[in-house]
Amino acid sequence: MDIADQNFVKKVNQKLLLNEILKQAPISRAKLSERTGLNKSTVSSQVSTLMKEHLVYEIGQGESSGGRRPVLLMFNKQAGFSIGIDVGVDDVNGILTDLEGSVIYDQQLMLPSSSPEAAKPILIEFIQQLISHIPSSPYGLVGIGVCIPGLVDANEQIVFTPHSKWKNIDLKTTLQDTFHVPVFIENEANAGAYGEKIFGAAKHYDHLMYASIGTGIGIGIIIDQHLYRGAYGFSGEMGHMTIDFNGPTCSCGNRGCWELYASEKALFESLQSSDQKVSYQDIEERAKMNDMKTINALRNFGFYLGVGLTNVLHTFNPQAVILRNKIIESQPTVLSVIQHEVSSRMDPQFSSIVELLPSSLGHNAPALGMSSLVNEAFLHHATLSQ
Ligand SMILES: [Zn+2]
Repeated sequence: MDIADQNFVKKVNQKLLLNEILKQAPISRAKLSERTGLNKSTVSSQVSTLMKEHLVYEIGQGESSGGRRPVLLMFNKQAGFSIGIDVGVDDVNGILTDLEGSVIYDQQLMLPSSSPEAAKPILIEFIQQLISHIPSSPYGLVGIGVCIPGLVDANEQIVFTPHSKWKNIDLKTTLQDTFHVPVFIENEANAGAYGEKIFGAAKHYDHLMYASIGTGIGIGIIIDQHLYRGAYGFSGEMGHMTIDFNGPTCSCGNRGCWELYASEKALFESLQSSDQKVSYQDIEERAKMNDMKTINALRNFGFYLGVGLTNVLHTFNPQAVILRNKIIESQPTVLSVIQHEVSSRMDPQFSSIVELLPSSLGHNAPALGMSSLVNEAFLHHATLSQ
């Protein structure tokens, strides 16, 4: 083997060991050797490299099976920190996490204007504020992940956001030039799906859908544990799936799109009159008082979601669908209508085995997904770069 090949093998072994320490810590060198099949001297030399890189440290001593008690190894989750940001239509949610994804600081912001020219400097200042909360650490900020509710292409360029009308925006380069760390841009539903897969309601599923139900409807697709982005990055735009071919015209040019009926925007529109806006709080209070108009609107919301989700389930056959919407998370009636609708429209062989679950991470799901994409890239780079 030439030197380059030898280095590569060392790096692959390091990655294998780091993964095992991440999953099994606290763990001894002997156990690592047993679990990875690498011999003890390889484990020992690669662990000492990981320790020099501040990614692993030793703690006290573990159980002994006779003889000397082994020293245990831990992953240094505070070796660096990542930022995850979810840019909504009119607000921004930002979190700062350690390398294991524990949130150590979070901040929200209302966007005074959704135009990209106005939003860019605000976003940069917002990131600077998050950075100021990073504790002192060997690597400091390891990357920034930003998700947006719109189309992001395979080169992480923002192609279009339907509601705030961003068009062809290269936020990745702007942020990389400003902060000099890796930057990742992702679609919001994809980010949420990933967050729920790593930390939330979908932790134990390999095949899942994440439905982000807000101004529109976006679906994040995870197949065999991996995000499915499509050939050009535009998968999951199922809010524009036709559910009524004679229906009203949608902003996308199609007619009778699912999100015209089943988005949160559609629910709010069905409840407000021309002179009166409705808030989340109004809906909760009126539902509690059994206000018929509100109850009917919530049932309709569940009905239309169930109709569209039936199509999604027939297409992907996932183990679970995670539903991210504040009203679904607080009003169990909606989820039971969805479940009823889905099971009345599908063969029980399909519908009885799929779990329909409200999001367990709530509004943090997309930001957590982004910070975990950043962390994974950092750890991959730390162990696999030459
Ligand atoms: Zn449409």
